[in-house]
Amino acid sequence: MYQLKTDPDLCRRCETTDCLARCQYLNLDPEAAKREKMKMIEGLDSIVLHQCATCYGCEEYCKHRNHPFYLIVGLQEKRGIKPAPEDFIREQVKLFAPREEAKITEIDGTPLSMCLFPKLKDSRIAGSIFEGTSVLMGRNFFCNLVYLHYGMHSLILERVENTINNFARHNIDELVCFHDECYALYASYAPAFGLEVPFRPVHLFEFLHRRLLDNAGKIKKLGLKVAYQRPCSTRLTPEKDHYLDKIFALIGVERVKREYDGENPLCCGAVFRAQGRGDLADDVQARNIGDMVQSGAGACVFNCPMCYMTLSGAVAQKGIRPILISDLCRLALGEDVAD
Ligand code: SF4
Ligand code: SF4
Repeated sequence: MYQLKTDPDLCRRCETTDCLARCQYLNLDPEAAKREKMKMIEGLDSIVLHQCATCYGCEEYCKHRNHPFYLIVGLQEKRGIKPAPEDFIREQVKLFAPREEAKITEIDGTPLSMCLFPKLKDSRIAGSIFEGTSVLMGRNFFCNLVYLHYGMHSLILERVENTINNFARHNIDELVCFHDECYALYASYAPAFGLEVPFRPVHLFEFLHRRLLDNAGKIKKLGLKVAYQRPCSTRLTPEKDHYLDKIFALIGVERVKREYDGENPLCCGAVFRAQGRGDLADDVQARNIGDMVQSGAGACVFNCPMCYMTLSGAVAQKGIRPILISDLCRLALGEDVAD
């Protein structure tokens, strides 16, 4: 069985307890943050286990990479604390379960994981950016990290070994991850549990940056002011975010200042709705949209397809164009993209 690599002594010595003190949802003062953290490293119950919004933020706030959120999920599971209604969780577990053995397909070019987004493959994987890519997707290639929102390490660990093997059987050296959460599986979650990943995960930002450089002669600067809607999964791997600024510089886009960008992003609300926290979902959606409007952005760029599906209608209603980051890059290359 895989064990989370976390060091309780690091937490005992930690002066800031930033993981909980900076939490946007729990409102703990520094002393309460320390007290609750101490309970958790002793394996005891804590209000955090019951009230955590599963935003993943503490993984980013802990500069020691001591995996506070993975610890929370482990304790929730051990103590039978469910962050979402049990019926809903049961349904989700069944819905995304692998159903048959993965077929080996021929890889002709750069392997690209599309996770569980087949519709996006048909409508968005086109043009010079994606030329020479081979798509792998479906339940057998699903990252399963969504179950972090439902307090379920055991299910993720049970399934991801197969997911990793299914990719590895294609003898790939690197894997481009269209979905940020897939990248987080290979770059954060697997190492945190000592799971070996026999290929290099490449984040979509890095891949897009690479392909824009390859097509530099075709780039037409867009001259757009863009708000970035940062998804929760990026908080597991913040180290690749600099590629976004490099992309924006190449395509002539200004990243507007938002209250909810940088290390202070707000969830799109999809998870909260799924967890039965409708009021919280309404609240974060209203704050996100209000913040975008105030920023003066003409477009909102999404990195996560789920965030895009959740917020694009409300964003468009405010006269702001919702767009996936890959489509924004394709626009800069003069290509037509679907709305
Ligand atoms: S998880 Fe990180 S930030 Fe939180 S107490 Fe431990 S070392 Fe400090
Ligand atoms: S996951 Fe988010 S809500 Fe939960 S403790 Fe960490 S920062 Fe707070």
